[in-house]
Amino acid sequence: MSAEDTIAAISTPIGKAGIGIIRISGPLALSIAKTIFKPKRKIKEFESHRLYLGNLIDPKTNRTIDEVLLCYMKAPHSYTREDVVEINSHSGYMVLSKILELVLSQGARLAKPGEFTLRAFLNGRIDLTQAEAIVDLINAQSETGLYLASQQLKGSLKDKINQLKEKVADLLAHVEVAIDFPEEEEAFISKEDMVSKLNQLISEIEAIIRLHRQKKVWIDGINTIIVGKVNAGKSSLLNRLLDEERAIVSPIPGTTRDIIESSILINGLPLRLVDTAGIRDVADEIERKGIFFAKKRLKEADLVLIVIDQSKALSKEDLEIIEMCKEKSSVLVLNKIDLPSGLKEEDFNKLLSYGFPVVKISALTGEGLEDLKKTIFDMAIKGEKDLLESSIAPNLRHKQALESCLDSLKNASNLLKEDGTIDLIAFEIKNALDSLGQITGEVTTEDILEKIFSQFCLGK
Ligand code: GDP
Repeated sequence: MSAEDTIAAISTPIGKAGIGIIRISGPLALSIAKTIFKPKRKIKEFESHRLYLGNLIDPKTNRTIDEVLLCYMKAPHSYTREDVVEINSHSGYMVLSKILELVLSQGARLAKPGEFTLRAFLNGRIDLTQAEAIVDLINAQSETGLYLASQQLKGSLKDKINQLKEKVADLLAHVEVAIDFPEEEEAFISKEDMVSKLNQLISEIEAIIRLHRQKKVWIDGINTIIVGKVNAGKSSLLNRLLDEERAIVSPIPGTTRDIIESSILINGLPLRLVDTAGIRDVADEIERKGIFFAKKRLKEADLVLIVIDQSKALSKEDLEIIEMCKEKSSVLVLNKIDLPSGLKEEDFNKLLSYGFPVVKISALTGEGLEDLKKTIFDMAIKGEKDLLESSIAPNLRHKQALESCLDSLKNASNLLKEDGTIDLIAFEIKNALDSLGQITGEVTTEDILEKIFSQFCLGK
């Protein structure tokens, strides 16, 4: 991983296109450019950040390969903070490969995926959260995902973590003073002050961890489960939502035994839909298994669609199912509105009393489906405001490091309250600081770097 060597790669997709870019980074970048590039106009020296028109020539054969634009970016004012040369050639498999081969023959070696960005990180131009943001930016599937990635690239998460680090380091300094001058411990910061500062930090970190869940909604999707008694129309609703016949729809009670999972996008928001067996008491073993899964799935679900056949009076089973979902974020979907209503007024009032949004649909005709989608979307993005306002969107790795930071701070707080030794308290606070350092990359291992940078494409 030494920055002594010079790396090169094709940075654009290889295929026929107007322009392709070959990127070179490292100490040989400029000398390679001078050897293989002949500018149209005579120049004394390459100026940094200027485009030069000229020909790329193989010095061995003196043959011109392509007419190109070349840009030299002098260290440290480049993506990697090293000398960088970018060659804008025409794009085609042969021309790009030939130029790369030429560059490699002049002493560069082929870059590994993400190696340019790794160098930017190792040379201190970006931190680890910003490097991760580049992958997120390239992979963004929704506008919100793109916005969050661009904010993180600008340093939103880095700045937040650095603020936290300062606060934790400040606490540690107080504790260390108390270790060095035990007789003056109280003079520096009182125990109560320390506990209150720790608690403040703890709630700040808990708030950031909550943002991870919201980010996940945009990246991984909302885990949605469709429940309801047999024949309420769960499979029909799933099919409607999927707009295709993936679930088995059958009028015979109890045929949707298996759990069927599919995904759709609602306004760019991924919804992972699960249709389950009707929840009811039956003797049939297979169906029981399905019901068992349904209950387990219910626990894991972010959102529950409770389907009720409104052409019939509300039954005991309907109510039991709603009761089971009381703690969840749920929508009451009154299905079969193409048929006359069988719900009595008291049934309707009973349904309203749960406080869930009520949407009337016909899975058969599609009526009310748009309303349902809008309701789902609005419920799912309820927390989005916080996410967009803070622009902080921790990924799983950040969340795990924040959780371990939280544990250490809680331990420190408990030790303080229980008159634990000051050395132990200092130890916990140091651990908390290390956990924060893992997020930005000051504390890191080859394994973590390998894992992060292997997600990059070649040439980035
Ligand atoms: P599930 O057991 O809850 O999955 O119910 P299904 O989706 O299999 O539907 C049960 C029966 O109700 C089938 O015959 C469907 O065609 C019918 N059905 C579903 N939705 C509607 C609807 O909106 N209107 C009418 N009239 N029939 C429906």
